[in-house]
Amino acid sequence: MLHPKNERTLVVIKPDGVERSLVGEIIRRFERVGLKIVAMKMLVADQEFVKAHYTLDSGWMKGVGEKSIKAYIDQGKKHPISDDPLAVAEVILRKLRSYITAGPVVAMVIEGAHAVKIVRKLVGSTEPLSSDVGTIRGDFVLDSYEMSDLDDRSIRNLIHASGSVAEAKREIAHWFKPDEIIEYRHVQEEILYGPNLDDVLG
Ligand code: ADP
Ligand code: MG
Repeated sequence: MLHPKNERTLVVIKPDGVERSLVGEIIRRFERVGLKIVAMKMLVADQEFVKAHYTLDSGWMKGVGEKSIKAYIDQGKKHPISDDPLAVAEVILRKLRSYITAGPVVAMVIEGAHAVKIVRKLVGSTEPLSSDVGTIRGDFVLDSYEMSDLDDRSIRNLIHASGSVAEAKREIAHWFKPDEIIEYRHVQEEILYGPNLDDVLG
């Protein structure tokens, strides 16, 4: 079994994150918790690449549609597009494709203990209106499903992060060639993961 300290996840700072000069702030949050960047690049994605990214997981479409329908039901409202999660997801994907291709993005692979869950915790939930204070989405942006639906656009939430270890594996392979990922040791790993702190006093 893979040791939890070697887990990897994919993070993509979306075009709104780059435009708002939040690249450094976002990376800082991952670095300060002790995670390690093992690959990073800036690029402008094309629409086919974005579609392929979001449909790597065959269940994503249904899940994203259901989440959107539930957000309306929770407010006692009917979803304006459809009751069918897949029909809702088609519309979300179309908007996402133009959002993510609107400008440069910064993609990175992040490694460290429980990287997938720790990064998702730091990123916060999908809709900034309800993301917790202290998370990246909660602290730096204020979008809502209501506004994005009114303006017929994607939710702007600064960042993508893999949702599970299996998703991370597929996404990393989609964004990075194996030789773009660098294996190296961080000095602080001894303090984060070493079984004893017996070297500290020399
Ligand atoms: P997350 O990025 O939190 O994992 P999802 O995988 O469910 O969220 O959705 C991917 C992205 O699609 C979101 O980050 C957001 O930008 C956009 N999105 C999701 N649901 C909606 C929606 N109902 N309306 C507009 N945009 C959405
Ligand atoms: Mg997701």
